Amino acid sequence: MDPTLTRGSIAFIGIGSNVGDKIKNCRQAIAEISQLRQNRLISQSSLYKTEPIGYTQQDWFINCVIEIETTFTAYELLHVLEDIEISMGRKRTFKWGPRIIDLDILFFNDETIQCEGLTVPHPEVQRRAFVLAPLCEIAADYTHPLLKKSISQLMAQLGDGGGIEKL
Ligand code: ADP
Ligand code: MG
Repeated sequence: MDPTLTRGSIAFIGIGSNVGDKIKNCRQAIAEISQLRQNRLISQSSLYKTEPIGYTQQDWFINCVIEIETTFTAYELLHVLEDIEISMGRKRTFKWGPRIIDLDILFFNDETIQCEGLTVPHPEVQRRAFVLAPLCEIAADYTHPLLKKSISQLMAQLGDGGGIEKL
């Protein structure tokens, strides 16, 4: 996308992988998202090695967060992210289960969306250190549109970022 033209929306995307070459998978997803002409990569957090939550009998994860400018709507972006997940070989297993790549829309501008198949802000943001820690690096002052707290406040509220390690 040519940054001098229309200003798009700002979206934060959470990226995770715990199958195969996890770092490579995350990097490939970032490349595929950025290559689309509708998207422009604005910033990218460090990679984090994180322990699984929910279903804990599985391998550790690599997680990171990116910020993009996009001319897609939130729904279009969700479908684009699903297409990338599928093209990278993701199989639907079960909620919290192992995945080659998981791409979640964390925030989309200051919008709140609650529909079949799409909830924005992502409802787990404030409970997940593996999302808040990378977000803190690139968007510490972003105010959660529903909770009305900044990312750094949410991080402080969650307490220690146990189970995550910045690479
Ligand atoms: P999870 O990430 O919760 O482990 P999945 O990645 O399989 O599970 O996602 C399950 C469904 O969550 C997707 O089919 C998608 O429609 C829905 N979903 C709802 N809100 C969001 C969001 N903000 N970002 C990504 N997916 C979402
Ligand atoms: Mg997901």
